[in-house]
Amino acid sequence: LQLTLAVIKPDAVAHPLMLQALHQKILENDFAIIRCKDLVWRKQDSERFYAEHSGRFFYQRLVEFMSSGQMRAYILARDDAIRHWRELMGPTKVFRARYTSPSSIRGQFGLTDTRNTTHGSDSVESAQREIAFFFPDFCVE
Ligand code: ATP
Ligand code: MG
Repeated sequence: LQLTLAVIKPDAVAHPLMLQALHQKILENDFAIIRCKDLVWRKQDSERFYAEHSGRFFYQRLVEFMSSGQMRAYILARDDAIRHWRELMGPTKVFRARYTSPSSIRGQFGLTDTRNTTHGSDSVESAQREIAFFFPDFCVE
């Protein structure tokens, strides 16, 4: 069993039906929800979380967007949870998502490359870091 950190971003939380659909999708895909919480980031939380992207052309846009409204964060457990959740999300870029993975979450609901509905950890190391970031009192060891 593997853990991953999944986030429903502000664009998707803003729409109640989408939030419900994404929550359902998690359950339908055999993930166990270990933790779940709604939260809002200050701009500095957003900057800290996405520090690896500082300097990229989309960084300011990303940081503003991720601190623009409520999000929902999950710790999910499954076999190969990281890969399965990223497959369900589909490609980062909305154009690619719509054309190559139209039934993925981003393919169906992504608005732009920034407002792309969801986040998922991309490795075991980032899952650990991100779980600790969102759920500081969750014990991973
Ligand atoms: P995430 O980390 O949110 O799961 P990802 O791993 O698919 O997405 P990253 O390369 O880590 O993609 O980028 C982090 C986030 O930055 C993306 O989800 C998206 O919101 C934003 N982003 C990435 N690339 C672009 C881009 N070219 N233009 C605009 N926004 C972008
Ligand atoms: Mg990423």
